[in-house]
Amino acid sequence: MANKGLIFCVCQGTCPSFQQMNIFEVVNTLRIEKLVDFVGIHPQLCAEDGDSFFEILLSGINDKIDKLVIAGCDPNMQRKMFRDAFENAGFDKSKHVGVDIRNMTTEQAMEAIKKVLI
Ligand code: SF4
Repeated sequence: MANKGLIFCVCQGTCPSFQQMNIFEVVNTLRIEKLVDFVGIHPQLCAEDGDSFFEILLSGINDKIDKLVIAGCDPNMQRKMFRDAFENAGFDKSKHVGVDIRNMTTEQAMEAIKKVLI
């Protein structure tokens, strides 16, 4: 079975880019529709405790996750910011799919994430 996870990063909840959407509605809809096996919300994945979060969450379970979608800022920035944490956790970075959801509405964010999950 393909295990897919979704983690939302929300820039501390204060960034204007995330104010047009209801993140809880997005994650709840995607889990009810069974498009993801687990969901999470983190306030600031690019902070040091974001590295710890990934290292704790992903260590030793590389073979249990097929796709890890991170919805937040630019995917290229994500790749650079999370590279060391993935490496330290032994997580295959090619399973990471970044989705830029900044300045989107709830519906737009949902569609953008669905595109990479289906
Ligand atoms: S990882 Fe991206 S979305 Fe998350 S806090 Fe940092 S800049 Fe913001």
